[in-house]
Amino acid sequence: MGKTGSWRVFRPVVDRLKCVKCLRCWVFCPEGVVRREEDGTVSIDYEYCKGCGICAAECKVKAITLVREEGDGGK
Ligand code: SF4
Ligand code: SF4
Repeated sequence: MGKTGSWRVFRPVVDRLKCVKCLRCWVFCPEGVVRREEDGTVSIDYEYCKGCGICAAECKVKAITLVREEGDGGK
């Protein structure tokens, strides 16, 4: 239940080179789908991410970009 991979419109992409490991995205994600990696940066579980964009809005160094999902047939 709760898988969002088929209907999500936007997908947050983390630039781990820009990430300063502040974990704001991890704290603010309402779905709890931001994962902490061993190097201190983060990645996102796209199986459950809803594409709400809160993580991108909270990232102060703009290390998260929302990109439109492809293949959904929408514009
Ligand atoms: S909010 Fe941005 S800088 Fe902070 S951990 Fe998340 S991606 Fe990295
Ligand atoms: S887009 Fe929303 S659900 Fe997905 S990782 Fe960011 S805050 Fe969490």
